[in-house]
Amino acid sequence: MKKIIIISLAVAMLTGMVQAQKNPRNVIFLIGDGMGLAQVYAGMVSNGNKLQLERFKNIGFSKTYSASNFTTDSGAGGTALACGVKTKNGMIGMTPDSVSVPSILELASRNGLSTGIVVACALTHATPASYIAHQPNRGMYEAIATDYLNTNIDVMIGGGRKHFERRSDERNLTSELRAKNYQVAYTIDEVKNTKAGKLVGLLYEEQNPSVPERGDMLPDATMAAINILDNNKKGFFLMVEGSQIDWACHDNNTEQTVREVLDFDKVLGRVLDYAEKNGNTLVIVTADHETGGMTFPDGDIRNKTLKAEFSTKGHTGTPVPVYAFGPGADKFTGFMENTSFKEKIEKLLKIKK
Ligand code: MG
Ligand code: ZN
Repeated sequence: MKKIIIISLAVAMLTGMVQAQKNPRNVIFLIGDGMGLAQVYAGMVSNGNKLQLERFKNIGFSKTYSASNFTTDSGAGGTALACGVKTKNGMIGMTPDSVSVPSILELASRNGLSTGIVVACALTHATPASYIAHQPNRGMYEAIATDYLNTNIDVMIGGGRKHFERRSDERNLTSELRAKNYQVAYTIDEVKNTKAGKLVGLLYEEQNPSVPERGDMLPDATMAAINILDNNKKGFFLMVEGSQIDWACHDNNTEQTVREVLDFDKVLGRVLDYAEKNGNTLVIVTADHETGGMTFPDGDIRNKTLKAEFSTKGHTGTPVPVYAFGPGADKFTGFMENTSFKEKIEKLLKIKK
């Protein structure tokens, strides 16, 4: 009898442990803008047939069409990922009839989690804007910057300083952020020296430069953000964007696409190292859409070369891969709509609306 009780107790404890592992405390959501399977493979072949990305074992596909177009832009694409609704191309954080929808980042923040955005472009650009702003047009950069002040976001790092400080309405949003207890960093070293509290990193006047000029800005800023957000025992939600894979593909520039993919892959390697050690962190990687219709009629694995062709200077409607690692990663396999991420993450983080 005693044995049975002990065995039952052990089984109950093990079941409890398994269930406890099912829910992550932190979610790191990484978007490679324009990063379809071809972009990933371009990076892989050029890097000696390997990427950090291969450490992800749960893989799926996201359907990226928007409410208005077969082929989405980054506004509607970002809004679907962040807010869980399909909207019209060009819109940010709203339904097609202009009703604001809170993003997963805003909901996480309201539920006491720490939140952050780290991007390789202006903080006011479409993808980061989708997580924080609610505007009918992605080009409304100054209004989008103002939306950052309506939230309780803890860490934001990117470019776009002019939309905060040299505005047509003459408001200085950096001063207003300081008054709300944000530390302000203008260099990556200042970012790296910040260990706690709230931080806005406005590292470039407009867009961030491309790699190699940008150096390790994106991997370094990502790890600095994690280091700050990780102080919250309730957990955190962080969105990171490899913003310029898209731009290189708009230019149909294979070499630059490879450089930006490898920069993003460096971020993934560091984030996975953190997540492996931490054990409570779900890491999700996807794209808002594919850019360029990139394809490879030929190549040479041993010589690390590709013969790349592009079918467009714009985006395409082809579904993009999804990669997940950590507790809850099995929820992100198979084909899914790009609107499905928000609700899945809400459930995993036990977020109340
Ligand atoms: Mg983007
Ligand atoms: Zn684009």
